[in-house]
Amino acid sequence: MRVVDLWQDNQKPTISFELFPARSEKAAAKLEQVIDELAALKPDFVSVTFGAGGSTQDGSRQLVDSLMNTKGLDVIAYFACFGLGPDDITAVLGSYRDMGIKTIFAVRGDAPEQEGFTPHPDSLPYALDLISFIKERYDFCIGAAGYPEGHIEAESKQQDLAYLKQKVEKGAEYIIANYCYDNQYFFDFVEQCRAIGIAVPILPGVMPIYSIKMMNMLATLCGATITPEITDGLAKLLPDDKETLEQFGIDLATRQCAELIEKGVPGIHIYTMDRSRASVEIVGRLRRDGLL
Ligand SMILES: Cc1cc2nc3c(=O)[nH]c(=O)nc-3n(C[C@H](O)[C@H](O)[C@H](O)COP(=O)(O)OP(=O)(O)OC[C@H]3O[C@@H](n4cnc5c(N)ncnc54)[C@H](O)[C@@H]3O)c2cc1C
Repeated sequence: MRVVDLWQDNQKPTISFELFPARSEKAAAKLEQVIDELAALKPDFVSVTFGAGGSTQDGSRQLVDSLMNTKGLDVIAYFACFGLGPDDITAVLGSYRDMGIKTIFAVRGDAPEQEGFTPHPDSLPYALDLISFIKERYDFCIGAAGYPEGHIEAESKQQDLAYLKQKVEKGAEYIIANYCYDNQYFFDFVEQCRAIGIAVPILPGVMPIYSIKMMNMLATLCGATITPEITDGLAKLLPDDKETLEQFGIDLATRQCAELIEKGVPGIHIYTMDRSRASVEIVGRLRRDGLL
């Protein structure tokens, strides 16, 4: 599947789920069940992350293979180039091509925490270099990351958008946006992209709140704003009431998705964090309301 083909005829919005490879045998067994529950929702596609520095290389490949060839799902394989040399890159991308992958999502990645990790001297500095590298050698449909609130290292939002435009000029055919808890960031981002001539589909990412600890940790890593609606809502919950917290996260994410769909997004991409319950409920509610 070349993902952009799904968005060509303005059909119903797509629904898709991001997964990452399990880090232990116990997590792998749980992931298997999660995948079956998500597959039962008949997503348009799923995506598989790739640990920077090649840290999940084998796990990512195995997961991509199993999702495609055992579960029969359409898959976008992510690839992060941080620290990797040209031979490492072609080894992974070649194996994805041979597996039948048609769509890649190309990111730079960040320095891995592995002690003693030394980047390859010929590693690529930015995602746009990776996109050029891929475009010159393969026939993949390539996607790039976009940041509605600006990338955390960006000199400015404007400069970040200018680099995003370059990623598209180098060959990115679609953008997946980082999550934000206030859709207005996404709507403004799309408007700014269109204003500078970025015309490719922009898919919003939605991150349900799974736990307060995880929410804070991820927001610190990527700079997502935790809105007053969230802070006030969480303040009313009892500490340690995981069930109510999860429902709070599901309600919020469902409202976000409904508004995004009503405003005409090409689809909804849910960051599952390898969990199924929130996605099952969100998609179920959106389908009941005729939005998906
Ligand atoms: C949907 C999504 C999925 C992701 N999946 C993964 C994954 O699977 N694995 C993983 O490791 N990470 C993943 N990430 C995280 C991503 O790797 C990090 O956010 C990383 O810090 C930046 O990646 P990028 O591709 O956006 O980088 P780039 O586009 O290279 O940008 C990185 C920074 O450099 C700046 N910049 C860009 N080009 C230039 C230039 N030519 N000169 C100077 N500055 C420049 C940008 O403004 C930005 O601040 C994902 C992010 C998103 C949004």
